[in-house]
Amino acid sequence: MILTITMNPSVDISYPLNKLIINDINRVAEVKKTAGGKGLNVTRGIKYSGIPVLASGILGGTTGEYIQKQLDNDNINYNFYVTQHESRNCIAILHEGYQTEILESGPVLDNHDVDIFLRHYQKLLSQSTVITISGSLPQGFPVDFYTQLTEKANKHQIPVLLDCSGKTLIAVLKSKDKPYLIKPNKDELKQIIQMDIDENDTSSLIKALHHPLLNDIPFVILSLGQNGAFARCHNQYYQVSIPKITVVNPVGSGDVTLAGLAASIHENETVEVMLKRAMTMGMLNTMEPQTGFVNMANYDHYYRQVNVIHIIEK
Ligand code: ADP
Repeated sequence: MILTITMNPSVDISYPLNKLIINDINRVAEVKKTAGGKGLNVTRGIKYSGIPVLASGILGGTTGEYIQKQLDNDNINYNFYVTQHESRNCIAILHEGYQTEILESGPVLDNHDVDIFLRHYQKLLSQSTVITISGSLPQGFPVDFYTQLTEKANKHQIPVLLDCSGKTLIAVLKSKDKPYLIKPNKDELKQIIQMDIDENDTSSLIKALHHPLLNDIPFVILSLGQNGAFARCHNQYYQVSIPKITVVNPVGSGDVTLAGLAASIHENETVEVMLKRAMTMGMLNTMEPQTGFVNMANYDHYYRQVNVIHIIEK
């Protein structure tokens, strides 16, 4: 079973408006509320792939109850540590072709919550084949928290697929407990290696993925939006190209890409199949209006159009 970790889940509320009027009343006819947070998008992606998945993390309050109800509706198994603290709402106002977002930071938690969650997580490890960790930490959690989760998983030889950014990611990269795989996008990678990356230049991509901070991470998958991905798998490099498609909503594509990677690792597939599967999932997500949703009926059609080239270094 794949375990997905979402430490700061949310109720994602979308308000479509013809026009957003500032300093006046905006009435919304059609409100959509979903269980959100990057890790829950990953969870749905894995579920669509037909692989057993368990969602965990921390949630609480009436917002937390709402998230659990939504997961029940989607038939998703979960086992969260439930606190007294209210989980967050994240609002997206869709207006005039724009998406204006208002994101709550979420509850402020403390060391007591850290300890209880670590014990909770430890108990889930025995059932897990692969672990995905996605998104930001709750306020009050130490910056090395994902390092602690990774260390515990590594002790049980469970591969960790990590998708976070900034200081939290750097803390893991600088520690001795490395994740099995990371999937930054270009901006996230640039931010951590402090280098410019030319995605049209193979030597620039290889140089970026060769950065000392990324040493000892077996799989580094740099996702490049409409340009597919560039990957280092152990010491081999792969360029992955994808067909041109009509994008409806690209939000959550990286999460669903991670779901494809996790599913593939769970099923022991080859590197080529893993990369094709991940790209196909990402593309399918961009073609749907709902974040973190894919229509698997289109899977084979797009899978066939993904091209993986093994780069032989000169
Ligand atoms: P993130 O969502 O983490 O920023 P990306 O934007 O790189 O990640 O998207 C992840 C994957 O989703 C891409 O590698 C690709 O397979 C697919 N994808 C994202 N945007 C597009 C797009 N505009 N056209 C086609 N595929 C896309």
